[in-house]
Amino acid sequence: MFELNGKVAVVTGCDTGLGQGMALALARAGCDVVGINVVPADATGALIAEAGRRFRDIRADLRTAKAAVLIGQVVASFGRIDILVNNAGIIRRADALDFSEQDWDEVIEVNLKAVFFLAQAAARQFIAQKSPGRIINIASLLSFQGGIRVPSYTAAKSGVMGLTRLLANEWAKHGITVNAIAPGYMDTNNTEALRADPVRSAEILGRIPLARWGLPADLAGPIVFLASPASAYVTGHTLAVDGGWLGR
Ligand code: NAP
Repeated sequence: MFELNGKVAVVTGCDTGLGQGMALALARAGCDVVGINVVPADATGALIAEAGRRFRDIRADLRTAKAAVLIGQVVASFGRIDILVNNAGIIRRADALDFSEQDWDEVIEVNLKAVFFLAQAAARQFIAQKSPGRIINIASLLSFQGGIRVPSYTAAKSGVMGLTRLLANEWAKHGITVNAIAPGYMDTNNTEALRADPVRSAEILGRIPLARWGLPADLAGPIVFLASPASAYVTGHTLAVDGGWLGR
């Protein structure tokens, strides 16, 4: 039910952090993996090779790259695509009163615009190859909550949850499921500033029922579930993987 042998998965931003953890989990479940990264994802490639699967690394900046070209490169590498994980994301922190247009535009381009156009290009390929595809977008607790000092991030991640629902509705008739994972507070580059601030760090930790920061490995089960036949009747859902934060 959770087995993905022979499937081709694309994971954006998998040189580090949650993307690396999910790419490795998908490889261990049987997938060959294509990464889309700004910098070489050599460490990820080595881990996937250890798992006995193939890895291709496409170099691209999602602020400017054309999604159709990227998906074309995936198909040229492995002949098909079965799973798209829209993971790459950035965050910019400043008070809303001071927030710059550049910090707005860059976050929306990577975290929302690229998510939509990669999903569109992947869905066109799923339909052309006549196979049920899986799209998993990486949302956030800020898809559900407002947060502070991250206006473009909250707008983008709230948009990702809505877009996940819309695409699930439109593409169900093609056998494509579209879901999202909303990670909680995870120990990656994205939260470096928060973890370095002793006051914010203690506040956050004190509110997490499972009483620890999440790790990339905590997304392994959820990503394999949403990519596999085990979740065949799940679509349009955003799954929080947050140590209990939202239930508090
Ligand atoms: P991360 O370690 O900063 O990873 C982000 C990834 O996105 C990196 O691979 C990064 O590449 C890539 N990326 C950034 N800008 C890009 C661009 N223009 N084109 C292509 N790739 C780009 O942070 P993470 O925590 O693993 O984040 C992964 C996802 O989870 C993001 O969508 C983030 O918003 C989301 N998330 C994280 C948390 C958390 O607590 N950490 C919570 C909720 C949601 P480089 O390594 O080259 O920068």
